Amino acid sequence: MGSIAAASSEGKARTRSCATELICHRCDNHYPLEQPIFSCPDCGKGLDIAYDYELAARRFREIPGSERPENVWRFEELLPITDRHAQARTGQFAAYTPLIHADRLGAELGLSNLYIKDDSTSRPSLSYKDRVVAMSIARLLELGKREVGCVSTGNVGTAVAAMAAKAGVAAYVFYPDHLEDMKARACRALGAKVCQVQGNYDQANKACRQLAETTGLEFANITLRPFYAEGAKTAAFEIVEQLGWRSPDHIVSPAAGGTLSSRVHKGLVELQMLGAAQTDATKIHIAQPSGCNPIASAILAEEAEIRAVTPETAAHSLAIGAPGDGYLVIDAVLKRGGTGGFASDPEIFAGIDLLAATEGILTEPAGGTTIAVLEKLAAHGKLAPDDTVVAIITGNGLKTLDEHPAKPWPAKIECELDTMLAALEAFRHAGETPSPEYA
Ligand SMILES: [Zn+2]
Repeated sequence: MGSIAAASSEGKARTRSCATELICHRCDNHYPLEQPIFSCPDCGKGLDIAYDYELAARRFREIPGSERPENVWRFEELLPITDRHAQARTGQFAAYTPLIHADRLGAELGLSNLYIKDDSTSRPSLSYKDRVVAMSIARLLELGKREVGCVSTGNVGTAVAAMAAKAGVAAYVFYPDHLEDMKARACRALGAKVCQVQGNYDQANKACRQLAETTGLEFANITLRPFYAEGAKTAAFEIVEQLGWRSPDHIVSPAAGGTLSSRVHKGLVELQMLGAAQTDATKIHIAQPSGCNPIASAILAEEAEIRAVTPETAAHSLAIGAPGDGYLVIDAVLKRGGTGGFASDPEIFAGIDLLAATEGILTEPAGGTTIAVLEKLAAHGKLAPDDTVVAIITGNGLKTLDEHPAKPWPAKIECELDTMLAALEAFRHAGETPSPEYA
């Protein structure tokens, strides 16, 4: 920490970031990037980060991809962190996840150019949240702070705990009811102080905001939110680069608070402004659980306003009933001609199983939601057979296996040749895909 404080006073090494200021889209107010605010003092709306795009376009061309880091900072021109020392303490192994040609899943769904953006392999926390939390922790270090809090449905907490540990700052994780046990245990094992609050995510989020205002404690996904959200753009940058600087016809993304899909939209817009790729024809579709679908419902009803809901779904990481960035998602989806879809809990678990059985990727219920909605979009003709389609898988299923209503574990058998031959024969005649008992 001493070195960071010293670096910020004189001779501070700067990143190549072209971020210029904080802006409010509602009243067009501008604030200095250094000002520690997260919502517009005039209207209360969340703040966005503005960039010098002419400068970014020049800097973007100066360094070829082969010389850029294979992590979340790969396109740092379009990220908000300016202090090189703060940046170097976090996210060095985050993001830059594989884009997998999902030929077997595609064959099931009638899509020949289907790709999975597999953020279930991101480091350190096996979820897309590494992208956004890397920005929060770097910003925290820029501000010279030593403590960070977060409110989490699970994946943010794990990312905060891991990245705070590496950065040498204390982490406090507040999580609501109905969090998968493994996620809370992972936060603790990573050294964070963890406490559960009685209430759902939206209630916990409101209470944490009050806690932040009362104490001045920074919260990774509340007070640092303008910076946090920018990290989600990196998913769009990587997808387009991995497709050879071609933007896909469709991106299917899960939606909870709305950060990912709205910032994927922003990232695509920026790539086009920089002349890196034509991205304006890309449609964004969002997937939500039937038990918590305020954004998808608004999109399908063509309403601009979100009606908050009380979540009731097994997809706990998508259980945000009052999505903060929901209005941005509606704008992005409708501008791009996409749509919203939702899936029931049985469909979500069937989606998990389908992805696992065809692509060998084990995802959590958020990923199952994405696959279930992808399947519906294909079945309803929203995706043409030859269209290039990217589905974003945001989290790893290892953290949520306890929630998966799999069949009972088979009885133990004798460790002896004849018994095992009989077991093998039984496997071979059990049919190709056993029908799930939870359907
Ligand atoms: Zn404002």
